[in-house]
Amino acid sequence: MNEQLQPLKKPARTGKAGRSGTQDDIVYAHIFEAILEQRLAPGTKLSEEALGEIFGVSRTIIRRALSRLAHESVVLLRPNRGAVVASPTVEEARQVFFSRRMVERAITELAVQHATHEQLNELRQMVREERDSFSRGDRGAGIRLSGEFHLKLAEAAGNAPLVSFQRSLVSQTSLIIAQYESGNRSHCSYDEHMQLIDAIEARDAQQAVNLMMHHMDHIDSKLNLDEDSASDDLHAVFSHLLKKPKAAAKG
Ligand SMILES: [Zn+2]
Repeated sequence: MNEQLQPLKKPARTGKAGRSGTQDDIVYAHIFEAILEQRLAPGTKLSEEALGEIFGVSRTIIRRALSRLAHESVVLLRPNRGAVVASPTVEEARQVFFSRRMVERAITELAVQHATHEQLNELRQMVREERDSFSRGDRGAGIRLSGEFHLKLAEAAGNAPLVSFQRSLVSQTSLIIAQYESGNRSHCSYDEHMQLIDAIEARDAQQAVNLMMHHMDHIDSKLNLDEDSASDDLHAVFSHLLKKPKAAAKG
C-alpha cells in the first residue's frame, strides 16, 4: 500500500511515542501501532532495508526504533539474521499474563487514588471510540484502542515505571492474542472498561480491583494456552491416523 510514506509528515497519534517527534520515535510508534492492531503477525521479518525505504529514513534510525521495540520484548534481534516480530511461547505467554495481572492491580489501585476528572473523561472518550470502531467493523483500530485504554489508565495511575512496564506488557499481550486467541472475538470488552472507570471515579478501590481482575480473567479465558492442545510433533498430531497394532503397543 502507498499510505506508508505519509506518516512521517503526520506523526502517529499513538500515545507517547509520537510526542517528541524524532524520526526514530515516529518509526517506533508506527511499528508499535501495527503490532497493537495485529497487522504485523508474530514471526514477521523486519528488514531494515525495507523499513528504511518505507519510512524514508536511514537504517540507523530503523535500527534505533527496532532496538527500542526489542527492549520491550515485542521484537527479537537475531545476530546476523536481522529482526523479527517476537512470537512468544506458551510459557512466555503465561509469564506475561502473570505480570500483567500484578501490574493492572497496582495501576487500578493507584488510579483510584490519583486519576483526575479530566483523565477519567479522556478514558471514557477512548472507550466510546473503541466501541464505535468495533461496531463499524474496524477490528484493528478497536484492538489498538483497547490496548491504549490500558496505557492511558497506567498514565492516570501516575507512576512512570509502571507506565513503561505496562507499555511492554500491552504490546506483548497483543502479540500473544494474535497468536493464541481462539475464535474471532475482541479481547477487551468495552462494557467492562466503562464499569471500571465508574468504580475508579467512585474511588471504590475494592470494586475497581475486582472488576479489573475479572477483566483479566476474561482475556485469559479467550486464549488457548493449553499446552496439550497444539503441538509441533507431526506424529503426535496425526496419531489417530496411524495404525495401531492391536495388542503390541501396551504389551
Ligand atoms: Zn481491557
